[in-house]
Order: sequence, then structure tokens, then C-alpha cells
Amino acid sequence: MAYDGGPVIKQALVQLIFAGSSWSASDGKALAANIHHSLKRLLAGPYMWGLSQYSGILPGSLVEHDVFDPTEPTAPVTFDSVGERLGTLIPSGNISDFRINDQILYIVFTQGVQFKDPMALGFHNYDEIDGSRFHYAWINAITLDVATYAASHELVEACTDPEINGYGWIIKTASGNVREEVADLCEIPEFSYSEGIVAAPYWSDLDGACICPSRSFKLWIDRDECDIGPTMGSTSVVNAAYVGLQPEWLTGSELPPLTGFTYYWEDAYEVYYPGSRTGLMATVSWWLPNDFYTTTIWFVATADNGTQLRASITVSPRSPLQAQAAALACRIRKMRNNINRIPPFIIDRFGPDGPPMPSDADFRAIRSELQKTQALTDHLEKIMLLAKREKRQRAREVPVPSFTAKANYPTPPRVQINH
Ligand SMILES: [Zn+2]
Repeated sequence: MAYDGGPVIKQALVQLIFAGSSWSASDGKALAANIHHSLKRLLAGPYMWGLSQYSGILPGSLVEHDVFDPTEPTAPVTFDSVGERLGTLIPSGNISDFRINDQILYIVFTQGVQFKDPMALGFHNYDEIDGSRFHYAWINAITLDVATYAASHELVEACTDPEINGYGWIIKTASGNVREEVADLCEIPEFSYSEGIVAAPYWSDLDGACICPSRSFKLWIDRDECDIGPTMGSTSVVNAAYVGLQPEWLTGSELPPLTGFTYYWEDAYEVYYPGSRTGLMATVSWWLPNDFYTTTIWFVATADNGTQLRASITVSPRSPLQAQAAALACRIRKMRNNINRIPPFIIDRFGPDGPPMPSDADFRAIRSELQKTQALTDHLEKIMLLAKREKRQRAREVPVPSFTAKANYPTPPRVQINH
């Protein structure tokens, strides 16, 4: 994206206008209420977060009071017809006035009338009253999903380039002739979602991709330093934990709370037999012997508003001997680290103001720790020899197909992911 020095809307205050008599029918009223609710969430929510890279544009807000204009819009809708109608409405005083707040963006929704290109679902533009410019968009509200998709497209473009191709944030071709705005590069034939609401993706220079931001955080899979991974024939407990989850996201503040999580663990029957699954915790039993497999355990948590979190961990089960060797090596590493932390080893720090000389007891403790470490190291060497022998032996054996063992186990039902 390139910035041409023109105006941007840094913190939009959006005034919704429902134009035409259809909005006073009960269907129309319900749709208008849903559009209001959805756009309020998109405006205040993470959908807008990706715009901060363009002149520091912030999330915005919605004027609580919508305007219902019963005047029937004329067909076809044109840039001028929408601008002119607003030019009449704004001075009437029943609508937020851009001359009081220049962050106002008017979004006009109609039903049953089309733009001259019937495929166009919306546009944004500007007009003026007494030489002051106001910014607006028009949306063909065919359904709720179409309305929020088109309105979010025009919203992000109006914020980044309110005076359409008027030198805000735009995309230029090499020739400089064809200009596109922030959402135009990202038009795809499928709906995308932000926090469960249909919204238009837009271009992010930072990501080098089209984005449709939602709250996101990572899942972390807990492992002890000396938990050297799964061992064939053994059982592991895998704990997933949230990283970066803001506490207020769970309770709801500006944003609706993330609640009602359903969990989905994907299983790899070739490598392990899945045991119990309770929320964030899963137990798996590793097949024996299949040390030639590496597998990935997938985990998906879905909140009831459609937000999904994913985590995975890749593991290679070890033979019991390999596991024993790895566990010993880890213990030895830990002991060496402890010995290195004992003060007498920083000898060059001694002096009149340095720490006191180590006592005989200190030296005895260090000697004892070193002896234990040495004993463990000798033991490790023996195990490594055995593991090598085991590997050579297994290479000579004809591999047994792994499916013979697992045929005895029932297939547990898979949990459906909510969208
Ligand atoms: Zn556009």
C-alpha cells in the first residue's frame, strides 16, 4: 500500500442509515437490528486491528441511534443519488453531523434497488455541503451476510482512503493508472469471518497477505525439561494451555466473551491409541514398536462465537532403552548445572570484598555431586551401547505391520467442530 498524503478516518464514528420503506416492515426491522449489532462488533473489535499499520487507524464505534429514512431510493442507485439524499438529511438535524465530528462515516443501506452494475454490492464516496466534505458508503443489503461483508469492505476502504482514490492508502500499478483500495485485492468468492461475523478480508503489508483479524492466542503444550517424549508401550498425558489469552476476553468487556468452547483432538492411530480426552487434556498410549514414526497431535478449541484456536505438537516415540538414555542424559545435564551454580567455582571473584572461601563441607558436597554425575554418565554409556545393539537387531527383523495390533481397539467418535 502507498500513502498519497490525503485524509484518513482515524477513529470512525459510523452512522447507519436505513433508506426506504422496506425497513419499517418486521423483516426489515429485524435485519436492520442484526446489521447494527454485527457492525458494532466489527467496528470495535479485532477486525479493525490490522488497520493500525495505515496511519495508525484505530477501532471505531457506532452511533447508537440509527436513522430510518422512509423516502424510497430511486433506481438505479448512483454516487450522486446517495450523496444528494445525505445532503438533504444532514442539515435536517435528525442525523449526526460531520461538521461537529469529522470522523463520521455515513453508511446507507437499501433493499431492492441496484447500482448501475447489478453485481456491485456497495461503494464508498464523498460529497460536500457548503464546501465541507463528508464521507459515505452505500450497501445493497440483500442478506445480513452480504450486508456485513460489503459494509466491512467499504468501511476499511473509507477509513484508509475516504476521498476515494483521493490520495489516502491505495495500491498503484507500475503505470500508476489503475488504483485499488485496501480490500479490493482481497475479494474472494467465499465469505471470511472475524469473530464469527462475515467480514471482508483486506490487504496487510505487515503480513504480506489478506487478513480478516480475530482475537488470537496460542496453545502451548506443557512438557517437563526431562520429559524426553513418548516411549513406545508407555502412556503420556498432554496438557494444552493458552498463551496470550487476555483475561478480559473470557469475561467480556468491549468484546463479547469467548465462551462455550468445544474441543477436538485429532488422533493418529498408526502411532498411538487415544485414551481419555477431557477439555485441554488428552492421554495417549504409544504403539510398540514403531520408533520409525514421527507424528503430530492436533488440538482445536472452538468458542461458541466461532473463534478457533489450534495447537499441535510433533513427537517421535522412542524405544524404552532410548527413552532411558535420554532421561539419564537430562538428569546429568541438570546435575552439572547445579554444580556450576555452587559459589566456589567463581574463583576469580575472590578477594578482600569477594565471597568467603568455600568450607570443607562445600568441597565434600561438590565432590559427592561430581561422583554421582560420573556414575550416571557411566551408566548412560552402557545403556547407549544396549540401544545401539537393539537398533542393529531390529534392522535384521522383518517389520510387523502395525495395523495388526490396533485392530482390536474400537474407534472413538470424533467431536464435530462448530463453525
Ligand atoms: Zn473496494
